[in-house]
Formats: sequence, C-alpha cells, structure tokens
Amino acid sequence: MTVAGTTPEAASSSSTEAPAAPWAADFSALRRQDPELAGVLLAECDRQATQLQLIAAENVTSPAVLAALGSPLANKYAEGYPGHRHHGGCELVDLAERMAVERACALFGCEHANVQPYSGSLAVFAAYAALLVPGDTVLAMRLPDGGHLTHGSAANFSGRWFDFAGYGVDPVSGLIDYDQVRDLAHARRPKAIMAGAISYPRHIDYAAFREIADEVDAYLIVDAAHTLGLVAGGAAPSPVPYADVVCATTHKLLRGPRGGLILCGSELARRIDRAVFPFTQGGPQMHTIAATAVALGEAATPAYRAYAHQVTANAHALAEGLIAEGMELQTGGTDTHLITAATTPLGVDGLRARGRCAAARIVLDKCAMPGDPVPADGCSGIRLGTAAVTSQGMQEPEMAQIAKVIGSALREEPGTAARVAELVAAFLPYRR
Ligand SMILES: *Cc1c(COP(=O)(O)O)cnc(C)c1O
Repeated sequence: MTVAGTTPEAASSSSTEAPAAPWAADFSALRRQDPELAGVLLAECDRQATQLQLIAAENVTSPAVLAALGSPLANKYAEGYPGHRHHGGCELVDLAERMAVERACALFGCEHANVQPYSGSLAVFAAYAALLVPGDTVLAMRLPDGGHLTHGSAANFSGRWFDFAGYGVDPVSGLIDYDQVRDLAHARRPKAIMAGAISYPRHIDYAAFREIADEVDAYLIVDAAHTLGLVAGGAAPSPVPYADVVCATTHKLLRGPRGGLILCGSELARRIDRAVFPFTQGGPQMHTIAATAVALGEAATPAYRAYAHQVTANAHALAEGLIAEGMELQTGGTDTHLITAATTPLGVDGLRARGRCAAARIVLDKCAMPGDPVPADGCSGIRLGTAAVTSQGMQEPEMAQIAKVIGSALREEPGTAARVAELVAAFLPYRR
C-alpha cells in the first residue's frame, strides 16, 4: 500500500489525488464525503513527508498509535477512573486505561500514573492543583531561559494565580545556575520548585533540585514533557526517584498521541487523580488513552531503546555539523535530542533564520539565546531536535547533511530546497 507523499511521484502530484494513507481506515470514506477537508488532510500528510521535520517537540507516531487514535473508543464517555466511572459500558475502556497505567508504572518504575490529562499543559495544571492553592510561591525556570508558559507566564493561568520566582541559565555557559536556584529558594521559600524546560539541551541535575527542595521543604515537580521518552529508552536520567510529581507529554520523544501524563508515588495518587478529574477536566479521551497504552508498549521494546540512543547520537552529530557551519550552540552542544543554536554569527537573527530554512523546506523554530534582551524581540537563534528525523530512520551521515543544508539555507544558496527534497525523499514517514 502506498502512503500519501511517500513516493517522489506522490509528493509532486496534487494533494487531493494522493493515495490514501494506510493508517486511517476511513480516508477513502472521508474523501468521498468531504473532499475539501480530505484535501487539507492529505496535503498535510504530503507536507510532513516532503519537508525536513526538525521541530524539537514533534515526532512521528507509529501506524499502531494512529489506529488506536482513529478507533471507536473516541465514542465512549468514561468520566472517572477504571472501576469507578460515572457512565455505563466502561468495562472495555477500563481495560485500556489500566493497561496504559500499568505500562507507565512498569516503564518508569513509579507507584502511580494518571494518563488522562488532555495535554502537557493540563498535566502541569493538575499537578499545581494537587499541591498548591492560589497565591502560593513557585520557583521555576524563566520563560526566556527555556521555561514553559505553564511555568509562570503572565499570559497563562500559572502566572495569574501563583507567585512565580524565576531562575535562569548562566548567560555565558548556558547551563542552569544551581547556585541561583538555591539562593532564590532560600530567599522566597516556595511551596513547589519546578524543574524542566521546553528549551534546555543538557540533562537536568534532579538530585541537586531535590536537595534544594528539601532544604526549603518544597515539593519538587519535574516537567519532563520533552525528555520522558529518552528516560523510557534509557538515554537520559530519570526524574522519578527525585520528584514528588513528574508531568510529561505523550507526543514528544515518547512518540504517542497528543496528551499528558503524570507520575507520582502512592501517597499523592488520590490528590493527583482528583486534581485531573473532576477538578480540571471532564471525561477522558479514551481513544487517546488507548493510543498512549500502545505507545508505552512500544517504548518498552529494545527497538525503542535503540531509537532513544540514536536520537541523542544524532543530536551530537547534528550539533557538530552546525558548529562547523559557524553557529554557536548553547552550552556548546547537547545531551538530549534538542539543540539551541545562535545564528547571529552568520549575520542572521532567529526569525530570519527560521524563514530562510522554511523557504528551503526545513521546518524548525526560532528561539531566544541566553543573554538575549528580554522581551525577546530580536531572538538570535534557532531550536531544533532529532526526534522526528530519527523516527524516519535517519542516522549520523544524514545529520551531517542536515547541518550543511541548514548552513546553505541561512546563506540563501540556490538549490538548497532541491537538496532537502532529495534527502527527505529517501526517509519518508511511515515507510518504517
Ligand atoms: C510541550 C511542553 C508542555 C506543554 O505540552 P502541551 O501538550 O502543548 O500542552 C509543557 N511543559 C513543557 C516543559 C513542554 O515542553
């Protein structure tokens, strides 16, 4: 069977004529019933297959995960938890949720897991709701340094309802300033300390955070939205032994459906569960939870371990290539899937860099670099990651090529888009 955009011919044909994708049983029915929407959907399949996908937070789920997502479990209402639902007919979805929870606990070595959060943000929301009351002080990474919106942005509930103190990275080394974390913790006496970031290329020292949290009697929440998949594959240290609560997404490195996940010990289990439902959410998305179970099953396999280690090996190779192209990397490199690279040494700011890459079919994000002015109007770098391209089967030689095409794109060299098209055509999603 052919996948939309998985052959160069399909990629160049008009999207509505692209063959149906094998992971969605109802593509043909959808095309008959709603050709307009089907056209958008198929064009997006084409886009994903014909551009270089380097957004650090994105990945390529397996056909099995997509099958669970597209299943009639989407029809089921199941407010509550397995064995304690407010609706009838939940016996089978109970099995799916129990599988997801048991797999998460086994994979991460924790006592309790909640797989119902609709997103990473709502996992964090629920963690705060379980441990804090409005007005409490929380210590978290400042947004320009790599913190997430839920870590105290004024535009987010977190910044509105809690009193955030922000730590940052050292402007020269780009590393988390643990001395500053300790000083702020003692000065502000937070009720909780948040460790985790959307944009930090190195492993986080969870033991150091635990020690500081203990010194001031604060909860330690780890937001491992990006890296929990690396933890699952043994390619990053686990926060589970150190944190009171671990929040994560299921769709980043973990390669599952879009959703959230919370891990904790049994003493906080009931508070976390009540904070997710009924406090912050309604009925769980059982198709998503089933897909999470599938992804957690995949994450326990040797193939996934190999994947996680290839992700970091690829990130190393890509980092070296970008340095050779003249970019300056935060911390000089990476331990994870993620790289933040200043493009200003090439005379291009982050916004222009993203635009020039887009013109060459390379999809990545702009980002603020340590020491950039705040607010970051002229951000000076790009953020990229190797999760998706590694899922597509790319290895170190391709990382060297990717670094070169990014350099060419930034210098606006003619023919870059064609080189990218040739590269991605050999590594299409869903030909695994
Ligand atoms: C991605 C991310 C989130 C939010 O996840 P959503 O599913 O987009 O809500 C929260 N925290 C961190 C650190 C993240 O990287």
